[in-house]
Amino acid sequence: MNLEHEIKQNLQLTILGSGTLIPTVTRHPAGYLLEYEGEKILIDCGHTTIARLVDMGVDLHSINTLFISHFHTDHFADAFPFMHARWVDDLYKPESERQKKPLLVIGPKTLEERWNKLKEVFWPEPKENYGIKFLEGKQTIEISDLKIELFDVVHVPWFPSVGIKITHNGKTFVYTGDIGSNHLLEDLKAKVADVDVLLIECGTMKPSPSHFTIEQVMELVDTAKVKKAYVTHLRVENESLIQEKIGSRKDIVIAQDNMKILI
Ligand SMILES: [Zn+2]
Ligand SMILES: [Zn+2]
Repeated sequence: MNLEHEIKQNLQLTILGSGTLIPTVTRHPAGYLLEYEGEKILIDCGHTTIARLVDMGVDLHSINTLFISHFHTDHFADAFPFMHARWVDDLYKPESERQKKPLLVIGPKTLEERWNKLKEVFWPEPKENYGIKFLEGKQTIEISDLKIELFDVVHVPWFPSVGIKITHNGKTFVYTGDIGSNHLLEDLKAKVADVDVLLIECGTMKPSPSHFTIEQVMELVDTAKVKKAYVTHLRVENESLIQEKIGSRKDIVIAQDNMKILI
């Protein structure tokens, strides 16, 4: 079975950025591309995500859905420029070739309000507009034959955060976004129980209200019977210690930029 055929059967996840707010050569801020047949869903859009997509040869217009987990710049900073680039690109095309489908932007509550504030700063021309449909907060939607569920995540007290669960063909994928010790473990366990692929952050080495440690990830994977977990959102200098703690386990893998995962 070649990869082309497998993508049609499976979801394919590409890690665009497995790092934190501080970009490095090997780990860019959060960005993940989920592909399924003709659908492309961009999961988080931190600073550098547009460049990562362009470098990988992904046409920005081919992405119909943008998921934002929360409003820190390493997850949200390129979202508005992503739309703006598509809009300007369209200006150079004949009317018949321009983007017709509104961009679906899904994320936490206050998303549209914050987006409009960015619009005031970056795009003040009052007459100009771009077709966007916003969906905010905890909910379940369907795109193609993917069931997409947004769930509340506790990260920082300053704004709401959401994670995403995608079910397709009996397989499940969960991305937590940034998550901290204040998130109720029982609630998270229920959300990721028996999940096929979990993409979870590991932004801290010591327990923190706003990020997870590798010990917390391992406990979650064991108690919730997660089939495979990819740890992401990690600092380069912590990588070897995290790998040491993971040891020879095959069910927990450190995500790397450019990695492709079939779900
Ligand atoms: Zn964050
Ligand atoms: Zn972050």
